[in-house]
Amino acid sequence: MADVHSKEVRSYNMSQIKGKNTKPEMLVRRYLHAQGFRYGLHNKKLPGKPDLVLRKYKTVIFVHGCFWHGHEGCKYFTIPKTRTEWWRQKIKRNKELDSQHIKALKSNNWHVIVIYQCEIKKDRREKTFENLLSHFSSIANV
Ligand SMILES: [Zn+2]
Repeated sequence: MADVHSKEVRSYNMSQIKGKNTKPEMLVRRYLHAQGFRYGLHNKKLPGKPDLVLRKYKTVIFVHGCFWHGHEGCKYFTIPKTRTEWWRQKIKRNKELDSQHIKALKSNNWHVIVIYQCEIKKDRREKTFENLLSHFSSIANV
C-alpha cells in the first residue's frame, strides 16, 4: 500500500466525501438517460437510499466512492495516515451498512448493481457501461 497519497488521489478522495450528485454518478445517469432508460433518484424509502432506481427492471444502482466505501484492492482506497484507526472504523462501518442494505434489497427481489467510482474513470468507463447494458438486456430477455 502506498505510503503517501499523491496529490491527484487525495483531491479525488476529498471530492467523494461530499456525497450526492458526485460526478461519477452524473456520468452514469447521463449515459443511461441517453440510452433511453428512465430512473428515480436517491429513493429514501429503499434501504441505503440507492442513487438510481429503475423500477421497470427492478434494479437499483449505487455509485460508490472508492475511499468512502472501502473499495478493496483499489488504489483510491488507502487509509489516511492521520487518525488511522478512526478512519478504519468509519469505513468498516460504511461497508457493513452497505452489505446490510444490499442484503435487504435483494431479499425484496431487487437487482443490485454497485459501480465504484474508479470504474467510471476514463479508461474503464466504456467497459463498465457495456456491462451495465448487458445487465439490463439479460433482465429484459427473461
Ligand atoms: Zn475503486
